[in-house]
Amino acid sequence: MKTRKLELNCPVCGSGSVFYSCTPNCCFNHVCADCGATFEPVTKARGGRLNGVVPPIPLPEAADPTAACARCDSTAVYLTDDNSLVCANCGILLELELTEVAPG
Ligand SMILES: [Zn+2]
Ligand SMILES: [Zn+2]
Ligand SMILES: [Zn+2]
Repeated sequence: MKTRKLELNCPVCGSGSVFYSCTPNCCFNHVCADCGATFEPVTKARGGRLNGVVPPIPLPEAADPTAACARCDSTAVYLTDDNSLVCANCGILLELELTEVAPG
């Protein structure tokens, strides 16, 4: 099962120009390049899992949108062809929620 990089849209203006501004051992603060809003994505288990999840090639870079798996804390959270969110580490399907939204 191939995947692609996680994509996030700004919860304030809808822009896809969203960057991860911190590091996984601190927090998941993201910033919108268009309106300056900040927010943090969190995941929760949706039920079900996939086998043989292959991480995207190339792998995301440090400033690409990042979220942690609700179950194993891995940041290997990617999108499948049908836009399901999946953890490539433990294989569970996830749902994404944006929290700590602060308009810029
Ligand atoms: Zn931080
Ligand atoms: Zn925005
Ligand atoms: Zn996981």
